[in-house]
Amino acid sequence: MIKEENYKWENWAGNHSCIAANYFEPETADQIADIIGYAVSNRLKVRVVGSGHSFTPLALSNEVLVSLKHHGKLVSIENNFVTCQGGMLLHELYTILQENKLSLANFGVINKQTVAGAIATGTHGSGLTHKSLSSLIHTMKIMTSSGSIIEIDENTVIHTNNKEFNLLNAAAISLGLLGIVLEVTFKCEPLFFLQSEEHVISFDEYLDSMDDDARRYEYFKAWWFPHTDKVYVYKTGRIAEGFGGRGKYEQYTAEQRSLDLEIDKVTAPMFIDSNDDATLIPEINRHCVERFFTPRVRLGSSFEILVHDETVPMIVSEYGLSMENDIHKKALRAFRDTLERSTIKAHFPVDLRYAGAERAWLSPSYNRDTFYIGMCVREYKKKEIPASMKLFFDVMRNYDARLNWGKLSDSTRGELKITYLMLDDFNGIRRFLDPHDIFQNDYLKSIL
Ligand SMILES: Cc1cc2nc3c(=O)[nH]c(=O)nc-3n(C[C@H](O)[C@H](O)[C@H](O)COP(=O)(O)OP(=O)(O)OC[C@H]3O[C@@H](n4cnc5c(N)ncnc54)[C@H](O)[C@@H]3O)c2cc1C
Repeated sequence: MIKEENYKWENWAGNHSCIAANYFEPETADQIADIIGYAVSNRLKVRVVGSGHSFTPLALSNEVLVSLKHHGKLVSIENNFVTCQGGMLLHELYTILQENKLSLANFGVINKQTVAGAIATGTHGSGLTHKSLSSLIHTMKIMTSSGSIIEIDENTVIHTNNKEFNLLNAAAISLGLLGIVLEVTFKCEPLFFLQSEEHVISFDEYLDSMDDDARRYEYFKAWWFPHTDKVYVYKTGRIAEGFGGRGKYEQYTAEQRSLDLEIDKVTAPMFIDSNDDATLIPEINRHCVERFFTPRVRLGSSFEILVHDETVPMIVSEYGLSMENDIHKKALRAFRDTLERSTIKAHFPVDLRYAGAERAWLSPSYNRDTFYIGMCVREYKKKEIPASMKLFFDVMRNYDARLNWGKLSDSTRGELKITYLMLDDFNGIRRFLDPHDIFQNDYLKSIL
């Protein structure tokens, strides 16, 4: 097992780092149990790090930091059930799935995260009939602070505080607080194919048609370009394999793919300049939507259409909003209006996605169909939160919005208690499984 002392770790975005007194890369469950035993007997805190793609200080530890990069193997494939170790990278999992003509029902945008890291924060894609990656967990194995392994499925219950709880609802999205995720079995489905029709509409047209389109197209999402009136919609639904009977074979072409990558190359220097001079941003957004976001149709496998590379460094915030009483539309309109009234400018894209209600307690979609608004600041290298993101936080605060745990927010403990209805019960289970708080860090202590 690789071990290092005073190991410097930094997340992908470079906005959080730590120096871990003890860093480990275990390969086996026994080695992981030894690390936990060492931490407990020395009263040290342990955090597991995935691939560092969270924008929040979730994974930081100055004491014991563990990476499962050598605990990421395929365990089994049985029919549509695929089991892998927690440290497997999503792109490794996706390659295995494609080789076996399988797919997950939905995906987050990129494939660089680890399996355990992605489920820990409730990573989601878009589609009102779909939920987060965590909702596809069939079973999972976690090692708790006692060093014992619990296998969890949808029927596993736990008794604490004189109540009985379904453990999967707590463990499916657990921020690494209940134990170390050793293995996950996903329910998969046969590989499927998609057609994505993509074009620009106006902001008001989008507001009028968004929910209908979210019900009509299985993977509907959109990108709004702030300071323009333009929203690029992705109307994506299933088609037969081989793109059944189409005269014209329009698979997602190499040309389209290279245009997608060119956007990043062309825009990077513009974004760097705009971080010193925000007045450039409206023109950048306008130029990009006109130059790169032309109408097109893409056809391909679920992986080709729904998973993308992200090469531009950035920081991201995202909140999930209830769709009841059009709260989500009010919040989006308020964000637009507040931005337009202010001198503060925001980079494209503002990512607009949907997800169905789910049972995981810490999901932003817990018990409610959810509309997600995500915003980013590209090529941003400073530690402090930029003005456009602060403005976004302030607007979202008024709409009972739930933060995405992997993305930036300034929600306080008090606000989280109101928006995350099951937080007290989650904390009860956390205390039961981790009575000495070994899986906490300062950030999680401050917000939970
Ligand atoms: C470019 C980019 C695009 C993104 N796109 C999306 C998106 O489309 N949708 C979305 O919802 N999110 C998205 N995210 C956020 C990302 O999916 C999450 O932050 C995810 O948690 C990162 O996974 P990771 O492996 O990097 O984990 P890390 O960020 O390293 O860790 C995340 C959490 O997982 C815990 N953890 C990791 N491994 C284990 C383990 N074995 N056992 C227990 N706990 C563990 C850590 O302790 C930490 O609490 C994106 C992030 C980036 C940078």
